[in-house]
Amino acid sequence: MGRIVSELPPSTIADDEAHCQRCGLWRTRTQVVVGRGSETARVMFLAEAPGREEDKTGLGFQGAAGQRFNDMLAFLGLDREQIWLANAVRCRPTVDGKRNRAPRPEEIQACRHWLVRDIARVQPRFIVTLGRIAFEAVTRETWDPARRAIPLYVNEFSLEVFAVYHPAYLIYRRDLLETYRQDLRKLRGVLVTAGVSTGEPRGPWAMMESP
Ligand code: SF4
Repeated sequence: MGRIVSELPPSTIADDEAHCQRCGLWRTRTQVVVGRGSETARVMFLAEAPGREEDKTGLGFQGAAGQRFNDMLAFLGLDREQIWLANAVRCRPTVDGKRNRAPRPEEIQACRHWLVRDIARVQPRFIVTLGRIAFEAVTRETWDPARRAIPLYVNEFSLEVFAVYHPAYLIYRRDLLETYRQDLRKLRGVLVTAGVSTGEPRGPWAMMESP
């Protein structure tokens, strides 16, 4: 397992990122939610953008969405210490300082600078994109749900992208839970073949697996 940097304060791991003003979101953020995890992770998970809890704590995937993300990782046989976790846009986008909104194309483009830097530093073999915005930020291709769960080689970074729905989506779309688990089983197979995961599912979703 690689050196864990998640315990280090942002000022020691990404000083310039923590003070970034490359797009207008710096004006309303509490703090930049920088990428964190193992610097030698072989798999990176890329989400969309921080929400209220992430903006407040400076950590990725907190609250209800964070619990879904933890469940997802456990189902894959992984935990946060084995991965790198980042957002396509690292400052919280809001409508009026209160409500979340989707990041704008110019914000995604500006923040891609930090995504490229994370990839260069960590050099993962896979990026798992969580939802449309993360997929499009990495691949610069148009999202289509039919592209889920199919490894896509990205020449720019010499790695494979594996797209799944954003776990927060399941809070509103319980009907997609089985589809989501099917996608994760495929991903787990890819990670086991690559030696990234032992493939032992854990957590609440594993209880629903057939013996
Ligand atoms: S969203 Fe990204 S590019 Fe924009 S200010 Fe924050 S860190 Fe910089």
